[in-house]
Amino acid sequence: MSQFTIPKFLLYLVFLIITRGNHYTLNSDVITTRSTSRSRSTEPHLSTDAPKIIIGGGPASGKGTQCEIISMQFGVVHLSSGDILREAVKGDSYIGRIAQKYMDEGKLVPDDVIIEVINERLKQDDCQKRGWLLDGFPRTKYQAEALLKAKMVPDAFIVLEVPDYILIDRVCGRRMDPLTGKIYNLKYDPPTDEAVRTRLMKRSDDDEEKIKTRILDYKAHIEAVKSYFSDQIVTVDGSLPSGKVSAQVVEGIKMRLASASLHSTKRSEGQKWFPVA
Ligand code: ADP
Repeated sequence: MSQFTIPKFLLYLVFLIITRGNHYTLNSDVITTRSTSRSRSTEPHLSTDAPKIIIGGGPASGKGTQCEIISMQFGVVHLSSGDILREAVKGDSYIGRIAQKYMDEGKLVPDDVIIEVINERLKQDDCQKRGWLLDGFPRTKYQAEALLKAKMVPDAFIVLEVPDYILIDRVCGRRMDPLTGKIYNLKYDPPTDEAVRTRLMKRSDDDEEKIKTRILDYKAHIEAVKSYFSDQIVTVDGSLPSGKVSAQVVEGIKMRLASASLHSTKRSEGQKWFPVA
């Protein structure tokens, strides 16, 4: 029986047509496809030099106040896991309905739920371009692992340390003005305007019993979370006056950003490059 064979040069020609213009390079973290064709500008950016920051601390440790300063100073997108979940509850979304009963009891929302929400948000354009500030996430070992698995590696991880009795005191007096969103404390920072005072609202999970559950939860997980980010941790005494706390927070972030950029320069200096074409 006669056998039909395709000439080798024809196979090679077909191969060239299929892979036209594409060079494939492999590095240890990400597989990227670099196209030399006109579609280059529409490809997603898989890495960015924008700052990536995490802030952790017990409930009412002052994360919210520091986040305002950090996002102004570094131009990053502030993502509070608590705020995102509260919005979902308010909007009565599927996620919100799952989260509500855990939040009302002062318990952590299941890992899978919050991981999905945060990972989706971090992929969006604003976070990729401006960088991000994660507030309240990751809170468990699994959340930390999920973040790193999604290649979201922070430059700095700020930890605000505040003794339990101060946290309890702050939470029990915490109130919010529903018109402006401003947070007050009846004991340390009461509103001067009587109209504001009368419309203040208390968060449903801000009572002494629930705060104790939330502090215990925080303590049960924080060391495991920190262990994933030992090179990025900056510990700040969150019981100091807020101006002093923010000075140390900003300084700590700058230090970590400088060290992260030094490392990436060193990495690229040490890399060997080979022609791939
Ligand atoms: P706080 O730090 O005072 O507990 P947050 O606003 O950060 O307040 O969170 C409010 C609630 O939202 C938490 O008690 C928890 O139920 C839920 N939550 C927020 N972030 C997470 C998270 N990363 N993992 C699980 N649950 C979370």
